[in-house]
Amino acid sequence: MYLTKFGYMDPASTNPNSGALLSAESVEKSIKEFQAFAGLEQTGQLDEVTLEMMNTPRCGVKDKVGFGTEARKKRYALQGSRWRVRDLTYSIGKYPKGLLKADVDREIAAAFKVWSDATNLTFKPVTGGKVHIEVRFERGEHGDGDPFDGPGGTLAHAYFPIYGGDAHFDDTESWTINSFRGTNLFQVAAHEFGHSLGLSHSDVQSALMAPFYRGYQSSFKLDKDDETAIQSLYGERESRPAPPTVTPTASSSGGTLCADGSIDAIVTMSDKETYVFKGSEYWKLTDNGVATGYPRSISRDWGGLSSNLDAAFTWTNGKTYFFKGGNYWRFTDLTMDADYPKAINKGFAGIPDDIDTAFVWSGNGKIYFFKGRNYWRFDPQQRPPVKSTYPKPISNWEGLPNYIDDALQYSNGYTYFFKDGQYYRFNDRAFRVDTASPDFPRPVGYWWFGCPASGNQIAPNVHNNKGDVPPSSMGDVMEDIFDAGE
Ligand SMILES: [Zn+2]
Ligand SMILES: [Zn+2]
Repeated sequence: MYLTKFGYMDPASTNPNSGALLSAESVEKSIKEFQAFAGLEQTGQLDEVTLEMMNTPRCGVKDKVGFGTEARKKRYALQGSRWRVRDLTYSIGKYPKGLLKADVDREIAAAFKVWSDATNLTFKPVTGGKVHIEVRFERGEHGDGDPFDGPGGTLAHAYFPIYGGDAHFDDTESWTINSFRGTNLFQVAAHEFGHSLGLSHSDVQSALMAPFYRGYQSSFKLDKDDETAIQSLYGERESRPAPPTVTPTASSSGGTLCADGSIDAIVTMSDKETYVFKGSEYWKLTDNGVATGYPRSISRDWGGLSSNLDAAFTWTNGKTYFFKGGNYWRFTDLTMDADYPKAINKGFAGIPDDIDTAFVWSGNGKIYFFKGRNYWRFDPQQRPPVKSTYPKPISNWEGLPNYIDDALQYSNGYTYFFKDGQYYRFNDRAFRVDTASPDFPRPVGYWWFGCPASGNQIAPNVHNNKGDVPPSSMGDVMEDIFDAGE
């Protein structure tokens, strides 16, 4: 059934009425094809790894489209199935049970942006009326003859443009945002919209269009394979924004950050851009350094926000919160929301003034505040949001020093802590500062801001992405251990 459902066996060959015999060779051949597609050894046998792969949650769209000559057509272009217009509309016709509407709107928009960043396509949300792509969260049979199967198994499916482009998500899955728990909505949606635009599955295991769910990655870079595929249908994006220039040998825009790598605050916004704040200025970071044109003035670009910030984080509602002294500010993108700043004890009861650090920990999606030698856990869904067992000593976080400047949940799933121009990479699964070469802490200037290597530090040969390998599996176990200490 699996091999038929996902296009490895012709359904006609397994139909008892067709009179065709299901030969051992054809089954073995189909298993081999599946193994090849999934990057497994082609044994032709239903061995343990193969069965495990077949039990991995995945997209419901077929891996192989058609048989014979049909299948030999280029995988990107399903008989020329692509949109003939550049500006596409979408609507969310049915929302999931467990998430806020605004959160779903934002994650779906971010998933479309993955594709509009790589092409000249645009996606506009529309409420009601006729749209190009309709998004629905459905359970079981939902009117298209391809029923969902409950938790696990098939997570979602979407239709190629010639079949309408709609994307359906199994509402019995536990859809989540920025968390190792459940199934990541953004990742699955970005994958499904690839189908809505005409892409079929890729056998490149690192591609977004690979059919298997890999667990929360929060690594939002399109694979080269996906980029090539989508651009073969829609062309490259014209008038791209200038690529960020990183000159590892020049202090360039990293200027004052290179002279002194200490920072006030660092935050990744809901649009996945990361900013560093220091004094009255701020910088936008790229994967390798600082974007050109920075630093810029905080007061000029972030109307209403103070200089010399204490900390910042972005919450799952897409809002970014900044802290200084006894106040906090809430921003939607670069715009301050009305009636801010407010007193910390108004919005964050139980959290002290003058905090050092604020971040959302990927291990459990809760907000953590650090100050001096202590930390507090803030859970907005709990009354009171801070349990009476807090504060607790920072020494619980193995390997971290006291008096941290700020922390960041970065796009690779690690949490980074910054102090006095050095940083620590925290392993959210092992729950300790990572052991790596070179050791942590490492100089922030070199690894984050593209500053030249200085003096006696150990210079690594690779200068990208902080030299990190993303974590590969879920953090649920770690969360249990961590919560057990309550
Ligand atoms: Zn798919
Ligand atoms: Zn459906």
